[in-house]
Amino acid sequence: MSLLQPYLEKAEKYHGHICSGQILGIRMALLGLKLLGLKPEDDLRDLVVFLETDRCVADAAYVVTGITVGRRRVKMHSYGKTAMSFLDLKSGKAYRIAVKTSDRPPHGDPKDKQVAFWEKRTDEDIFAWQEVAVTLSDGDLPGPPVSVVVCSVCGEDVLDRKEVLKDGQVMCRACAEGAYYRPIGA
Ligand SMILES: [Zn+2]
Ligand SMILES: [Zn+2]
Repeated sequence: MSLLQPYLEKAEKYHGHICSGQILGIRMALLGLKLLGLKPEDDLRDLVVFLETDRCVADAAYVVTGITVGRRRVKMHSYGKTAMSFLDLKSGKAYRIAVKTSDRPPHGDPKDKQVAFWEKRTDEDIFAWQEVAVTLSDGDLPGPPVSVVVCSVCGEDVLDRKEVLKDGQVMCRACAEGAYYRPIGA
């Protein structure tokens, strides 16, 4: 487990604590890179990570790979599952890794006990993985915006073909489908 030590230190700073999620997420990311023939110290500019959860493990993916949302290297699919896919845009290869065990160390165990708990388990004990095909549309790829249109309802810019056509009008999704927010006052 000494191999994980530098990542555990980074994770503790970035995430705020060491939990099973950090240990699992670090190992998941290291395995994902290994399956793609990559290493954390490589230039990972062609790596895209698909997160199926926004819980603890998600932060560990950043700690190992340095991938960020703002560089379009993180795609969130809120399935509520402790799983991630790792796509190498250069080779086109992708692997999905999911946690298959429900075993967890007792909640609130000190850090070294949690580390020791997972140290006893191999990747094969913890994870299930398989090669998958992932297609990214041009509006989801890294690089400059592929389109900019103006929503006919709110007048705000919509980038990267995220607009929808409703009743013959170009609209943002918030105007067409309802937003997660509700304006107050004014
Ligand atoms: Zn956590
Ligand atoms: Zn709009």
